[in-house]
Amino acid sequence: MTINRQILLVSRPKGEASLDNFHLAAPELPELGDGQVLVRNNYLSLDPYMRGRMNDRKSYAPPWPLDTVMVGATVGEVIESRHPDWQPGDAVAAMFGWQEYGISDGSNLRRLHDARVPRSAYLGAAGMPGVAAWYGLNRIIGPKAGETIAVSAASGAVGGVVGQLAKRAGCRVVGIAGGEQKCAYVVDALGFDACVDYKAANFQAALREAVPDGIDGYFENVGGAVLDAVMTNLNPHSRIALCGMISGYNDEPIPMKFPALLLMNRVRLEGFIITQLLDVWPQALKELTDAIVADQIRYRETIARGIENAPAAFLGMLKGENFGKQIVRLF
Ligand code: NDP
Repeated sequence: MTINRQILLVSRPKGEASLDNFHLAAPELPELGDGQVLVRNNYLSLDPYMRGRMNDRKSYAPPWPLDTVMVGATVGEVIESRHPDWQPGDAVAAMFGWQEYGISDGSNLRRLHDARVPRSAYLGAAGMPGVAAWYGLNRIIGPKAGETIAVSAASGAVGGVVGQLAKRAGCRVVGIAGGEQKCAYVVDALGFDACVDYKAANFQAALREAVPDGIDGYFENVGGAVLDAVMTNLNPHSRIALCGMISGYNDEPIPMKFPALLLMNRVRLEGFIITQLLDVWPQALKELTDAIVADQIRYRETIARGIENAPAAFLGMLKGENFGKQIVRLF
């Protein structure tokens, strides 16, 4: 008998999400049926979009149903198979959610081919966050050598990849992140040209100093006061890839102080949802995994241990307590 510990979403947050929105359950795993595969999940990904799925309101995806296992990407290993295409030992990515095991008919499993890339990276730089970085930068911003590109949440899963790809395109790259330690990492380990701490009292002046030629492309992950400060430094014909607005995910309205600057600077702003752009994934994943193997893209992870700690790690990530990609190690 195997117990499958899992985290259920049991209530919807009002404002900030809290631990009592979640419940740890421990059902027994059923016997495998013909054509089924049993996967033991090594890692669970915790991502900001999950906060949106906890709400009961119209969005690009339906609300996550109450009293079911929370949504989430996982990587793991087949440990039992009654399916001809899958063998014990196969490494797979899936959307099994916040639980230790998953049972599948094989249709929603993605084989992890490249053993040179650590499994956990398939949830970060070689996974959905990496592809979002690749798409927003290459397809919306379109960086040209010599341009200045800025990115917020710069030490995070998406932001860290954006900056490194923009450096490879020959740009001056300026990160925006919370705190001196994250900023030092972005410059020293990831190779950005500069990084500005948005929590510091002199944020606006420091940003202006870091972009002496203005900003040609901005990759937006947070919104709010950070976006306002960036807007006052935009160059004519600059491009904004609108990837996320995490400063408003707890339901606060996010004001925008200077919308007229979009017009005056003839800015092109485009939002995107990377899970709706599946045609770009193969090319993006190939380039990202090659760059990771060649040590041209680096990343950092914050690893919580055990499924029971997923809710606290998730709430911490929404407040910036993570440093790099937030994952949970399950086995
Ligand atoms: P991160 O690894 O960057 O973690 C989230 C970070 O957001 C925190 O570490 C924190 O960094 C920052 N943050 C939290 N609250 C605030 C705030 N109030 N103001 C400014 N920064 C804040 O997460 P991801 O890289 O996974 O995601 C980054 C963004 O990209 C999110 O908005 C997410 O929703 C979005 N996204 C969108 C996708 C799409 O398809 N459109 C796909 C993937 C991600 P710090 O300490 O620096 O403040």
